[in-house]
Amino acid sequence: MAGLDGLKDELEELKRQGRYRLPAVWESGSGPWMEMGGRRILQMASNNYLGLTDHPRMKQAAIEAIEKYGVGSGSVRTISGTLDIHDQLERELAEFKGTEAALVFQSGFTTNQGVFGTLLQPDDVVISDELNHASIIDGIRLTKAARRIFKHKDMNQLEEILKESGSFNRRYIVTDGVFSMDGDIAPLPDIVELAERYDAIVCVDDAHASGVLGKNGKGTTDHFGLNGRVHIQIGTLSKAVGVVGGYAAGSLALKEYLIHKARPFLFSTSQTPAVAASCLEAIRVLRSSPELGERMWASANSFRSQLQADGFDTGASETPIIPIVVGEAARTMEFSARLLEEGVFAPAIVYPTVAADKGRVRFIITASHTAEDLEFARQALLKVGREFGLLG
Ligand code: PMP
Repeated sequence: MAGLDGLKDELEELKRQGRYRLPAVWESGSGPWMEMGGRRILQMASNNYLGLTDHPRMKQAAIEAIEKYGVGSGSVRTISGTLDIHDQLERELAEFKGTEAALVFQSGFTTNQGVFGTLLQPDDVVISDELNHASIIDGIRLTKAARRIFKHKDMNQLEEILKESGSFNRRYIVTDGVFSMDGDIAPLPDIVELAERYDAIVCVDDAHASGVLGKNGKGTTDHFGLNGRVHIQIGTLSKAVGVVGGYAAGSLALKEYLIHKARPFLFSTSQTPAVAASCLEAIRVLRSSPELGERMWASANSFRSQLQADGFDTGASETPIIPIVVGEAARTMEFSARLLEEGVFAPAIVYPTVAADKGRVRFIITASHTAEDLEFARQALLKVGREFGLLG
């Protein structure tokens, strides 16, 4: 049977380009010190920003939910898969985000499929930052709406596109809140101002901003004091919130429209009881524990300044996502492998995720990293950085 033989050739090609890799397998959870192949490794790549993946209150909520409801929800939300904890989670999320309503999906990825795949109509145009996440791009691709891409954070180009797109029915501007590969923040105040001037709808994907930016981690909209001026706030429950899932927060009409039409909501089984209950508890933890975010920010800012003083290129980072730019793909992969030998896990992010000459290892600083952990990571970076001639 020859049918799939070509796949092997493509895999060989990836190997030749130095881009072949399989997921690292961990033998322990959470971190920041985790086990891999019997070794203790410092985890510098997890999106567990606030260390909530093993928070005692959330674990307890999950255990109690399993005892009460079982391990599965049994159905999609619109049949018999909506439990009172799903409902409560959406109420508290909306309250937390300061919106009329929120709708929960199984992941951040499916949220973007659901929101964009449903809302965008053939006579609409969607205007998207070039560095927006793959799930936004794929959500848009599900539709027949016209697409326009603006250069990363280029507000002049965004305005040009808005000027030229007056004939469309609805105009949507979509941006990540925090960009996941560079760790920079969207110019949301400028975007909102342009949207108001040109009567466009603003959607912000707060996957890396939920729990990170704004008061108690309310997100980019709150961070910039734009409450009430952003139409759709998308978020994930998989990163700082520490579990898995996604949501869209906005008006009640938006929620009810998505309930009736969003295919990932209609045709895929709802979050398990343990997931819904631990997400709900996480929102309460966010509200009661601002010190977690404060610790994460203090650590991230000092780590970034230190690396810059050491001579590393941290790109545009202004959040706990801190890339160290290395260069082309194979060299970046080698750099990451050397760090692992030194006991530090920071994966290589290479072409096509980022430009061919801008391969980087990406660090994410969390509330769980101690000053000693960060110094350990820095010493490993200094050692490997010198080997690779990155320190100038
Ligand atoms: N949007 C953005 C901007 C992201 O970075 C991610 C996570 N990689 C997602 C959506 C998808 O979120 P999830 O992992 O919950 O599916």
